[in-house]
Amino acid sequence: MSLQIYIDGLFYDRENAKVSVFDHAFLYGDGVFEGIRVYEGCVFRLREHLERLYSSARYIMLTVPLEMDELTEAVAETVRRNEIRNGYIRLVISRGAGTLGLSPWLCPQPSVVVIADSITLYPKEYYDNGLVLVTVPTMRNRVESLNARVKSCNYLNNILAKIEAHNSGCVEALMLDHNGFVVECTGDNIFVIKKGKLRTPPSYLGALEGITRDCIIEIAHEKGYAVSEEPFTRYDIFDADEVFLTGTAAEAIPVVEVDKRPIGNGKPGPITHELIEAFRKRTAVDGYQVYA
Ligand code: PMP
Repeated sequence: MSLQIYIDGLFYDRENAKVSVFDHAFLYGDGVFEGIRVYEGCVFRLREHLERLYSSARYIMLTVPLEMDELTEAVAETVRRNEIRNGYIRLVISRGAGTLGLSPWLCPQPSVVVIADSITLYPKEYYDNGLVLVTVPTMRNRVESLNARVKSCNYLNNILAKIEAHNSGCVEALMLDHNGFVVECTGDNIFVIKKGKLRTPPSYLGALEGITRDCIIEIAHEKGYAVSEEPFTRYDIFDADEVFLTGTAAEAIPVVEVDKRPIGNGKPGPITHELIEAFRKRTAVDGYQVYA
């Protein structure tokens, strides 16, 4: 069966799922999106993802053409039509088709696109052995310019960083802000652990308020670990006992080396392992049951 893709209330085969070349998401990256996981027929933290989507849309003055319950149903129906039990959803609200000028006011109808597909995980050895990161020269966009709390379709800042990491033989990049504070990676939030205490950069530095990040913070609290959101530098990364990343696609993944410095003993750490295990147990029960 060909993939069934939702566009503005209708379903199309993969080959026929098309949007206009005049859509400003295509012309200018003018739109917002979410990447969401499905675990055992449960859309992980769908409500939180939708709330973030509406917040992003509000920031760019884009009216989502569906109410939250309608969008929930559009997502659920797309998952059901594609018989996805474990997979990945891409939800996009684009500004819609307009003229060749920038004016969003000339785009009368925003579009809603939902794609539900399977997902290729990072290879298992990354989870077992940990990731190697490199700090890249491309800095996080300043929050005054394009606040990364807005999950917009304009991801060039992240893509440039990803290219630079790749050029250095790494799959993920460590991104700093213009003051040298650690912000996040190209598609993941970052945590450091020192003496049993977790730290992650605050969103005001330009880190996305990750849904996975929030879940990990909750789990860490439940397990009695202190977690703080505070600025820190590369020094704290090199000096950490453990480092790990969180994100919808990557889930939670250990980091074992940054800029050629081994983290801790150079192997995934025990607290990281404990948190990842707890996260995995939670995924299929913490969200919206599509087949219920
Ligand atoms: N930071 C960035 C830049 C991201 O794009 C993402 C999502 N892929 C994340 C962090 C992680 O957020 P979430 O856990 O909500 O997927």
